[in-house]
Amino acid sequence: MTDYARHEHHDFLGGAARALHDVPLQQALARLTTVLVSGNRRGFATLPESSQLRDHAKRIKEHTLAHLDQYLEELEASVQQVGGQVHWAADAEEARQLVLQLARQTNSRRVVKSKSMTSEEIHLNPALEAAGLEVVETDFGEFIIQLAGERPSHLVAPAVHHTRESIGQVLSKHVGHQLPDDPQVLAKTGRRLLREKFAHADMGISGANFAVAETGTIVLITNEGNGRLTTACPRVHVAIMGIEKVIPRWRDLPVFLKLLGRAATGQTLSVYTTILTGPRQPGEHDGPEEFHLILLDNGRSRVLATPFRESLQCIRCGACLNACPVYRRIGGHAYGGVYSGPIGSILTPLYDSVADNPHLPHASSLCGACQAACPVKINIPHMLIGLRELQHHGREQKRQQGSQRLERWAYWLSCQVLARPWLYRLALRIARRVLGIGAVEGWLRSLPGPGASWTAVRDFPVPAPRSFRERWHELPP
Ligand code: SF4
Repeated sequence: MTDYARHEHHDFLGGAARALHDVPLQQALARLTTVLVSGNRRGFATLPESSQLRDHAKRIKEHTLAHLDQYLEELEASVQQVGGQVHWAADAEEARQLVLQLARQTNSRRVVKSKSMTSEEIHLNPALEAAGLEVVETDFGEFIIQLAGERPSHLVAPAVHHTRESIGQVLSKHVGHQLPDDPQVLAKTGRRLLREKFAHADMGISGANFAVAETGTIVLITNEGNGRLTTACPRVHVAIMGIEKVIPRWRDLPVFLKLLGRAATGQTLSVYTTILTGPRQPGEHDGPEEFHLILLDNGRSRVLATPFRESLQCIRCGACLNACPVYRRIGGHAYGGVYSGPIGSILTPLYDSVADNPHLPHASSLCGACQAACPVKINIPHMLIGLRELQHHGREQKRQQGSQRLERWAYWLSCQVLARPWLYRLALRIARRVLGIGAVEGWLRSLPGPGASWTAVRDFPVPAPRSFRERWHELPP
């Protein structure tokens, strides 16, 4: 496995402690999460019967996941019918190889990307760069963190950990002269740099917020319009999506559109809703010549068969992050994985390993704010408790396996000693000497190793100075 593909098993406690002492980060987090939480509340307050709509969205997700195979096959057929190609990737490596292969086949050297957590999940950029391709993130926040060599720290606001000043520094370094930390100037600079990239790109890579099985349509939700340029300008468009993003029908889409913008930022609708059905058709003036959809599993079908299936209903709005008192203090990088906050504390252990991410299920006060904020009412606290139970059972099982092994070894050793009287006498003499050290009036208060369980509740007697046998032999005949 190449380095960039390795999941970062992270020192969560160390990362959290560092974040708590990072003053600019604390200010940035407080500012953004407060704005987004109040936006979320305002957004839902203006939506009549929002609770019923959220229940409806949940039912659509539940139904889709229960018939996932059927809807994915329908999606594949629909995409092919409109001239697109569908590729299936079992894991991150397969997905990376597919993109590289498509780049080779289409002679693509320059790639522009719109924000996609799925491409972050598969660590796509380093793989493309290692193959000699130029890759440019075109969401402004993603562009900044790409230049800074960082990972996103929020699902919808990837550069939340940056301030206006730090963005100014990153961009100044890139352009080679000092820019003022004026948002207008910085945005204008970013726009100028990125427009150039769009104009010369061969391939555009996007994620997909939703894919409609009925029509083969993929839907991108953005606020900057970069999604449109990424998918319309280059010759080739590759969309990478997790298999759980499919929705059955066209009429299901508005349900999610009404919820996603409100949950994420409080907007009635995000600024750009880009709806794409296949490549450019005859008579159309723009759009790619080729459209490829990569359907990524990467652990999702495994999760589908577990009590954690509900986590696959997530529409990646980030509302649970903003509401979480833990995320609000430590930010996204402390979590170590691509997905952070309450939902990340579930997804990272599930997609990676529960044993290797021991702290994440505990990174929650279980206050329920995440579930209350979630537009599809995912019972996040319940799943966090479920993961804690899994950890407990894993530890218990290990403990039992360990003690069984130890027990077998102890019986084997006693058998060897008891079968040889000379060895038994020798062992007794050694035990008497060793255990005599530190004994008080013939009793030991504490023993190391496995003996500690004994002395935790009672003292241990040191063998008598002379054994029964020895005394027996000393008796007159
Ligand atoms: S779990 Fe819910 S609130 Fe959190 S990102 Fe997913 S959909 Fe949004």
